[in-house]
Amino acid sequence: MIQARTVKLTYIVNTLILFMVFGLMAFFNAIDAEFLVYFSIPTAFIYIIGFYLINRGKLSIYVWMVYLWLTIYMGVTTVCLGYSFGFHLYCMSMIPIMFVSEYMAYKIDKKSLKAVYVSLGVAAVYLVSTGYVSYFGPVYERDEKVASIFWLMNSIVVFAFLIFYTNWLIKLIIQSEEKLREIAHIDKLTGLYNRHYMMEILNSEKGSERFLAIADIDLFKNINDNYGHNCGDHVLKSIAKILKEGLDSADICRWGGEEFLFLAKGDAITGRKVLENLRKQVENEDLSFEGKEIRATITIGGAVREENESVDKWIQRADEKLYVGKGKGRNKVEI
Ligand code: GH3
Ligand code: MG
Ligand code: MG
Repeated sequence: MIQARTVKLTYIVNTLILFMVFGLMAFFNAIDAEFLVYFSIPTAFIYIIGFYLINRGKLSIYVWMVYLWLTIYMGVTTVCLGYSFGFHLYCMSMIPIMFVSEYMAYKIDKKSLKAVYVSLGVAAVYLVSTGYVSYFGPVYERDEKVASIFWLMNSIVVFAFLIFYTNWLIKLIIQSEEKLREIAHIDKLTGLYNRHYMMEILNSEKGSERFLAIADIDLFKNINDNYGHNCGDHVLKSIAKILKEGLDSADICRWGGEEFLFLAKGDAITGRKVLENLRKQVENEDLSFEGKEIRATITIGGAVREENESVDKWIQRADEKLYVGKGKGRNKVEI
């Protein structure tokens, strides 16, 4: 999908550039810059080859070929017309695109040219061509009025490009970082927070009257053994959903294999009520899998945080309660 869209966009850009090449060719002809008229012929060829490369899906070869040619084109036009036309300014906008191309290639696992070296090449062409014209003067001395129009146009395009492109790029990076951060916090199977992220939440928890609870699915091994691992996964996901929906203002994570840990507001009395409610909900839910009726229960151990208690101690107390519940025959709440 993204690939198809990129190809289509590249096709459009290539077509636009090709039209521009013909437009410039006509302009060079009008100002009698003979060499540049001839130079436009291989340039047009490059973009025609471009269509072929895009069609064959060889986007990275296409991109680097266009960069190389654009650099040469800027050098040649600068030497011929002088920098009063502003063609050399495009070098500036090429540098960020090269780094992005290298980054994109890395993202899709493709080898790429090193943007640092290519950028140094671009800078060298810039220095040589502008150096040449400032020393010897341009090959074609032309009307300064035409030059200022070009200078203005080229400057506007380069600035607009740099500003909007950089803005778009930064937004893209922020978006992908946010997505990564989200993925890093989430348990894949259940969609709950993972243990690592829950520890961050617990360590930053400062409020009073908080209870923490660990719920463990009873005899879960039997579900796996009797109905298979896929059924086990289904039960895990279903119970995770029940817990999440029953605890909408709490933070909840998958603590380990078939264990969930959650943190909620309240004292021992509200805690017991909430946990008892969850236990019953799981007990009464039909967790059918592939047409078979499946039932499961959970045992929950909870603890209200004591003053100045460390997170580890707090978790340990909830865990001990959980084992008390298991010892009493499972499907119990202990707090
Ligand atoms: P208890 O009531 O004492 O907690 O018994 P139990 O069988 O639930 O506990 P036990 O620790 O013996 O077994 C837990 C099982 O959970 C063993 C392991 O194979 C299973 N398990 C852990 N993670 C997953 C998972 O992601 N998917 C599935 N299907 N099973 C898992
Ligand atoms: Mg367990
Ligand atoms: Mg268990």
